[in-house]
Amino acid sequence: MVVVGAGPAGAFAAYELARAGVESLLIDRQRFPRPKVCGGCLNARTLALLAAAGLGELPASLGGEPLDHFELWTGGRTVRLPMPRGIAVSRAAFDEALVREAIAAGAEFLPGTRAVLGAAGSKTRRVRLPQAKCQVVARLVIAADGLGGSFLPGDSGHRSRAVSESRIGAGAVFDDIHSRHSRHGTYRPGVIHMAVGRSGYVGVVRVEGGRLSVAAALDRRALGDGRTLVGAITELLAEAGLPGLPKPGTCASQWQGTAALSRRSPQVAFDRVFLIGDAAGYVEPFTGEGISWALEAAREVSPLVARAALASLAPNTERQWDGSLELGWRRRYRKRIARRQRWCRSVSWALRRQMLVSSAVRLLGGAPSLAAPLMAHLNAMPGERTP
Ligand SMILES: Cc1cc2nc3c(=O)[nH]c(=O)nc-3n(C[C@H](O)[C@H](O)[C@H](O)COP(=O)(O)OP(=O)(O)OC[C@H]3O[C@@H](n4cnc5c(N)ncnc54)[C@H](O)[C@@H]3O)c2cc1C
Repeated sequence: MVVVGAGPAGAFAAYELARAGVESLLIDRQRFPRPKVCGGCLNARTLALLAAAGLGELPASLGGEPLDHFELWTGGRTVRLPMPRGIAVSRAAFDEALVREAIAAGAEFLPGTRAVLGAAGSKTRRVRLPQAKCQVVARLVIAADGLGGSFLPGDSGHRSRAVSESRIGAGAVFDDIHSRHSRHGTYRPGVIHMAVGRSGYVGVVRVEGGRLSVAAALDRRALGDGRTLVGAITELLAEAGLPGLPKPGTCASQWQGTAALSRRSPQVAFDRVFLIGDAAGYVEPFTGEGISWALEAAREVSPLVARAALASLAPNTERQWDGSLELGWRRRYRKRIARRQRWCRSVSWALRRQMLVSSAVRLLGGAPSLAAPLMAHLNAMPGERTP
């Protein structure tokens, strides 16, 4: 089995496959640790998925900051809402640790190697490694190459497409430890600070070591008129009533941008290829569910493909490949992941209406408990029914 992309989706799938006794090769074009545009907020659902796989201690062992509140800022007003306990940890640390767990469970890891989907044979699928000028032959392939992934060839008709008016993402992690212990520091540990403005939103949160993780989703027009990324984000924070970013020179990692954030894939499985995580489609990150969707998809696809991979090893048992496995994954994905994403799409729609956001902040300021059903839904444990 080949798994392409070692973000949370791919690394967790490789971990689960290794635990099920399936030989798997995990490939990533980058070397780890590597930064990734992300707030790094692991919600209660993500923590539950990790715990169910025996990795419950992982985020805290990396020094992750416990999270228990969400502050929404807009037009100088704010509302503070309690949320089920989560943890904030930088993606550089989290993703590297997940890969380590996959290797410890028995997966093989090939970093710094770009993979490209090759031709399908009658019983296999090829994965080309252009830099190494070679190819790997696998029975099944999991594509977990993220939003801006390059695994599926552009002309294959399988690559995800951006939804019109999609925002773009940007982020960085700052070594800003000075205001951590200050009584007046606005960006306190334990709180997700979310600034919503006319041209997008910015989340600011403390991660391990008190560092400040900043992640934003911006309209493309926010970067018009010669405005820089940092300028646009500073403007958004100020418009919402939050202080600016740490001074230049305190930045631990360079600013990074992303491809269009809202994407849809034509199909999440075809010809021995199974898409999971952002590669399968993505909604804007406001609700901070991306990592839980990635882990859940990995958890759901693994037993499906593991059974098929193990069965195919037995002599003379490979029956005619009829596409039922791919159909099974499409159905399962729709039921377990796509339904939850619909919710998030509605929240993203509302966020683009400044009047709605301001009214919500005013309303919730008087009655924070009104947000409880939404918080419960976003953090619901896998399999749990919510309002
Ligand atoms: C601004 C922003 C803030 C966010 N904040 C949060 C948050 O706080 N909480 C949360 O839960 N989610 C958040 N998300 C969403 C979250 O980051 C993603 O949903 C998550 O990273 C998806 O994981 P993944 O494994 O699918 O993809 P990724 O993490 O993107 O991993 C994909 C991997 O594939 C590799 N790759 C790509 N192409 C190839 C190739 N051809 N060959 C080999 N390797 C390849 C890449 O190098 C990468 O390592 C945020 C997203 C954004 C943009």
